[in-house]
Amino acid sequence: MPKIAVLPGDGIGPEVTQETVKVLKVAAERFALSLVFEEGLLGGSAIDATGSPLPKETVRLCKESDAILFGAVGGPKWDALSTPIRPERGLLNLRRELSLYANLRPAKVFAALIDASPLKRAVVEGADILVVRELIGGIYYGDPKGIEKTPEGERAVDTCIYTTHEVKRIAEVAFQAALKRRRKVTSVDKANVMATSELWRGVVREVAEAYPEVTLEHMYSDNCAMQLVRDPKQFDVIVADNLFGDLLSDEAAMIVGSIGLLPSASLGTGTGLYEPVHGSAPDIAGKDLANPLAAILSAAMLLRYSLDHDEAARAVERAVEEVLHQGYRTIDIAQTGTKQISTKRMGDLVAEALAKG
Ligand code: NAD
Repeated sequence: MPKIAVLPGDGIGPEVTQETVKVLKVAAERFALSLVFEEGLLGGSAIDATGSPLPKETVRLCKESDAILFGAVGGPKWDALSTPIRPERGLLNLRRELSLYANLRPAKVFAALIDASPLKRAVVEGADILVVRELIGGIYYGDPKGIEKTPEGERAVDTCIYTTHEVKRIAEVAFQAALKRRRKVTSVDKANVMATSELWRGVVREVAEAYPEVTLEHMYSDNCAMQLVRDPKQFDVIVADNLFGDLLSDEAAMIVGSIGLLPSASLGTGTGLYEPVHGSAPDIAGKDLANPLAAILSAAMLLRYSLDHDEAARAVERAVEEVLHQGYRTIDIAQTGTKQISTKRMGDLVAEALAKG
């Protein structure tokens, strides 16, 4: 019986996770998967309960599970805490603890939602991008990091470090993914000003030699940010370091229409972790307004990558498409002529569509 660790987290995390578990239970019934769910604490809720953003018990639960379903962490309540004990640090430490070095963030435009994008229909129609983000290296983790007092005032430092090994393994993920798609990899860096980017570019070029059927292009991150909104259809797989991948995948959310639609899978050598790209959205938390589709689509990735059940994954994705096609929308993607519904109602409708098949 596959065990799923469920880490709802903070803010809208528990709201979207609840709807996702609802959908996964229907998928389990329809495809005879016998899933077992066990909840754990992460982030602000874990700080409140245990004093740590990542309790040992949560690490144990994640390591012994077949997959992890995660909501989001953070919020104003914990903003005054210092970096090592902030909610977000719990997530960063969990990613590192599980060696989740590859973050896959697909951004595919739904036919029913083309007009939900702030970009013109002609620009976004047919866009289908996979951002492959390096997740456990770079500037989010490098030492030294911190703020120190100096006679002239405070001084802050972040350190960006990448090794050949780290770049090689993420580049392999990108090229492998491209083989199953349109066979193009855009590698993003700032090789004109950053040493880590210079290394990045050289290693990606070397990895590319083993994939002659895949076209490789290099693009500076600032140009990529511009090209993503100018002509998103030029991209197939984008591979980027931790920081650039973070920024560019949020930008890709606007091509699809809302950050509430973007799922992600974090994969490494052990248990995979599945989470919506968005954060805890404190501005709408507790109001039954959040879009649960990014979390539900993350569950589809969980079925595909961790449980190796493509049929169940496709069924969940089709159920989402069906509900959108029927005109149901949460507030972030609502438009004139569509039916605005709550988080819970969206979860119910997807679960019903999935059950009907
Ligand atoms: P955010 O993604 O939480 O919210 C950005 C905007 O998008 C907000 O206006 C929010 O209402 C909206 N939004 C986000 N998800 C939505 C959804 N599912 N449905 C509808 N609208 C949605 O980013 P933020 O405001 O920069 O950060 C808020 C908190 O979340 C911070 O504490 C931040 O550190 C944390 N955060 C956590 C994660 C994570 O847990 N993986 C990721 C990003 C930010």
